[in-house]
Amino acid sequence: MRLAKRIDRLGSENAFVVLAEVTKLKEQGRDIINFGVGEPDFDTPFNIKSAGIDAIKANLTHYGPPAGIPDFRRAVAEYINKTRKINIDMDNVIVGPGTKPIIFYAISALVEDGDEVIYPNPGYPIYESLINYIGGKPVALPLVEEREFRFDIDDLKQALTKKTKMIILNSPQNPTGSVLSREDLEEIAAVSIKNDLWVMSDEIYSGITYDDSFSSIISIKGMPERTVLIDGFSKIYSMTGWRLGYGIVPKELTPVMISLNTNIVTCAATFTQYAGIKAYKGSCEEPDRMVEEFKYRRDLIVAGLNGIKGVSCLLPKGAFYVFPNVTEACKNLRLKDSVELQQKLLHEGNVAVLPRTSFGPKTSAETQEYIRLSYAISRENITEGLKRIKSVLE
Ligand code: PMP
Repeated sequence: MRLAKRIDRLGSENAFVVLAEVTKLKEQGRDIINFGVGEPDFDTPFNIKSAGIDAIKANLTHYGPPAGIPDFRRAVAEYINKTRKINIDMDNVIVGPGTKPIIFYAISALVEDGDEVIYPNPGYPIYESLINYIGGKPVALPLVEEREFRFDIDDLKQALTKKTKMIILNSPQNPTGSVLSREDLEEIAAVSIKNDLWVMSDEIYSGITYDDSFSSIISIKGMPERTVLIDGFSKIYSMTGWRLGYGIVPKELTPVMISLNTNIVTCAATFTQYAGIKAYKGSCEEPDRMVEEFKYRRDLIVAGLNGIKGVSCLLPKGAFYVFPNVTEACKNLRLKDSVELQQKLLHEGNVAVLPRTSFGPKTSAETQEYIRLSYAISRENITEGLKRIKSVLE
């Protein structure tokens, strides 16, 4: 079959490849502890589910406006104003079926052929894939363990060229759990203002932080007019399958985003948006409990990993991932890299993790090996999984 050339430029999310392998092994009767999944194991909170069901019963099941239902957009604007300390209104809000489409829209609306986009590496693989697909040039900015996987502003400055158009931020970050500090954000903001750049700030994990270190670049003066902020309901409300996310954009960009929605999805599901209103206006008890539980599990998994020979793990500040350094473990077992380690853990230890390269290519200067573990699984499974990893590595 002869496909359009641009299809060759489309990447993927390796997590789903590993998940398919795990599913196959499970079907063969293998008992696998799966640290690979990037979604909470909790049910969607009851009051949110009820609001969605009530909306369906009330026949709120027709097409909605492409920008999103006004009441939902207002609820989002209110939430963003409260959490990011800014002053936007519903006309800055574009709703999508998940945050992924908004990432695509932002890059396709702003990046021309050959424009460079700086993105975090290791990072969420969809950024690099979509930059390539749109015809831009992805420029990887290394996140290094010595800086707790945050940007080095000098690296950022060095990555800039006349063709740089956009910087992508993701804080709290997938896969490292790092959170950019206010000082980092101030410096990145100064660079983007000075060089007239766009910032796409993926804040999908903003609700899942373990201290008060999270802040958003959009709250810095001069940034709302050059920022596409992305957030959604998949993670903090455990609503991955509902498909609900949004972008906060400067008003001149809203009609473009609406047009992209009209062309591609028409609108996010209407009853899902009613559930979203309940999420933002209803009780926070269940999400707060989830974050408390994630914090307990984070401490459990970090302590456990640091007790395994050849593994060292930082304490992440947000999201539900750890990104331990496994260089010594690979050396001890004479493994070439984290891919070989991932395969060994899966086939000999019945434990699924993701290798470093699921989050972008290693840079030539990179000497360390890492794996990602999601702790969005039960305490019992974490404990059992750690036991299995220990028995493979020691
Ligand atoms: N951004 C990041 C960093 C993610 O990890 C994910 C989900 N894995 C998404 C965006 C996509 O989320 P959604 O379900 O809202 O499309």
